Amino acid sequence: ALKNPGVLKIGLIPADGIGGEVIPAARDAILALGSALPKTEFVTLDAGFEYFTRHGEALPDETVHALQQECDGALFGAVSSPSNKVAGYSSPIVALRKALDLYANIRPVLAVPKDPNEKPSVDLVVVRENTECLYVKQETLTFGPDGREARATRLITERASRRIGLKAFEIALARPRKHLTIIHKSNVLSVTDGLFRDTVKAIPSQHDKYADVTVAHQIVDSAVYRLFREPEIYDVMVAPNLYGDILSDAAAALVGSLGVVPSVNAGDTFVMGEPVHGSAPDIAGQNKANPIAAIRSAALMLRYMGFSDGADRIDAAVDAVVRDGSVLTPDLGGRSGTNEVAAEILKRI
Ligand code: ATP
Ligand code: MG
Repeated sequence: ALKNPGVLKIGLIPADGIGGEVIPAARDAILALGSALPKTEFVTLDAGFEYFTRHGEALPDETVHALQQECDGALFGAVSSPSNKVAGYSSPIVALRKALDLYANIRPVLAVPKDPNEKPSVDLVVVRENTECLYVKQETLTFGPDGREARATRLITERASRRIGLKAFEIALARPRKHLTIIHKSNVLSVTDGLFRDTVKAIPSQHDKYADVTVAHQIVDSAVYRLFREPEIYDVMVAPNLYGDILSDAAAALVGSLGVVPSVNAGDTFVMGEPVHGSAPDIAGQNKANPIAAIRSAALMLRYMGFSDGADRIDAAVDAVVRDGSVLTPDLGGRSGTNEVAAEILKRI
């Protein structure tokens, strides 16, 4: 149900760098769907490192409240992450995932084949646990007899493993191949990764509806190797937070550019689309950023909100532009700008 009767309200959080260039393109793609969606309204919300440098906070309460109380879904751009710790700053995207309990990061990676009848060489979904693992960020630095000692806590719970596992089975069930690979490192971390693997593996014995999903499990390093050698063996991969992060960036390399890979952060009641790429400070403000990852993130958000026809239309328009190949940004070997690629996609929607 929509929070405001008859109105689909989407929060836009461009945040930093190219976020400000690609999020408007994603908004326009949604608007281009016209009557395929309920009356749609957008509200632009603050967050990010740049906002932090001006206001001393990275995620204002108003943003969180607006998302929780008014918005049915959201699109997030990107945050710059300073490579060294900045006093008082912590990533607003991590905080947002927590505040809205967006425990699953879902990242489809698809290579668009030249011929629409051909099978894509890469067509997989990484389902990344989004709330725990090393991202609990409990780090300590102490002084031992031989110098400094840094430690980090890695939290894996049965509850979080089960709910991400359920999401992954649900996604696998809806795909033609219905194949799930559980990624872990339980040969080394038998307690934490063992709990993750065993909890996910046990799901089909508790829920008959997943009986048709075939399940494999694989050590993360060998998964990365095989991902590069034979990506076609994968359908849905489910992984704890850190492995999932690394795997999905690696998978992005297989399809040519970070600029085309979308994601959603999903909980049980809210979805937030977010391109997998970061703020790309090297190209920000130059009309060079590929808007496809953000536009596909908008489609994915709509899909998870139940508007799959609208999502299909956006994806088909993007596929057509990629296949055509004459209007692409430099990361895909083209010579067009963000605005031209966005306009070409809108035209086809
Ligand atoms: P951040 O700290 O925000 O992650 P980063 O320096 O790691 O910043 P990323 O955004 O992660 O930058 O990008 C890594 C590389 O991929 C950069 O060279 C960037 O220009 C390129 N890239 C990322 N997104 C896009 C995009 N949408 N279009 C084109 N190139 C991109
Ligand atoms: Mg980055």
